[in-house]
Amino acid sequence: EILLEIKDLCVRVGEKDILKNVNLKVNKGETHVIMGPNGSGKSTLVNTIMSNPKYEITSGKIFFEGEDVTEFAADERAKRGIFMSFQSPIEVPGISVENFIRTSKSAVDDKPVSVLRFNLDLSKRMKELEMKPEYASRYMNYGFSGGEKKKTEILQMQILNPKLAMLDETDSGLDVDAVRIVSEGIKNFKKDEDKALMIITHHKEIISNVVPDYVHVIIDGKIVKEGDASLIHKIEEEGYGWIRDEVNSSN
Ligand code: ADP
Ligand code: MG
Ligand code: MG
Repeated sequence: EILLEIKDLCVRVGEKDILKNVNLKVNKGETHVIMGPNGSGKSTLVNTIMSNPKYEITSGKIFFEGEDVTEFAADERAKRGIFMSFQSPIEVPGISVENFIRTSKSAVDDKPVSVLRFNLDLSKRMKELEMKPEYASRYMNYGFSGGEKKKTEILQMQILNPKLAMLDETDSGLDVDAVRIVSEGIKNFKKDEDKALMIITHHKEIISNVVPDYVHVIIDGKIVKEGDASLIHKIEEEGYGWIRDEVNSSN
């Protein structure tokens, strides 16, 4: 069953055309990994799927559960079950973690949440993520370490309970323990077999708990190579040179 379908997507940022005719299908339950050199367009892809206004779709379409969401704003996409974790999570001084996530939850669900039930769920999940309880009342990401920010993102993902979660380099800047906790958070999320994941990563550690179904390699704004999990290991060992060579020899 198709969850997300991207058709011939072209995206411009500022004056620059970044994504060029990207096609991608994500079925329910699948885990997709997006790889590619720095600056190739990975963040552009997930930001566009989330509808970040900085990214302008010049042509192509995005469908979610069969519905054309190309013109939808981020909040409308979030309500339909799309979530994105940012490469650099924002700090929100003045709003506590608890408040921030509860407000997001009621916005996404389009109804008020029971504070009691929410708080129980929050503290249970914070414990699983090895976050100290007092973090619930600290300002969102304010003065948090890289690892704490990423745990907060995973916490948000678990509570918002999206159908598709996109994680943009959730592992960058994390120490070994934080990587383990984040990757267990991902595993927990995937316990529901219908959940789909799109993970941008340079490291295989983050996905040690889930087996990706597909790996897509983006170079210069195009998906130039697709394969299974073995592609990750080949890229870790050999880099992207051989893929560039393949692209050049086919042109
Ligand atoms: P990746 O996530 O693969 O490292 P990005 O999607 O962040 O790559 O960036 C793709 C290209 O878009 C890069 O060349 C980058 O310099 C450019 N880019 C990203 N954000 C902006 C912006 N706000 N204005 C102009 N160019 C941008
Ligand atoms: Mg990058
Ligand atoms: Mg990026």
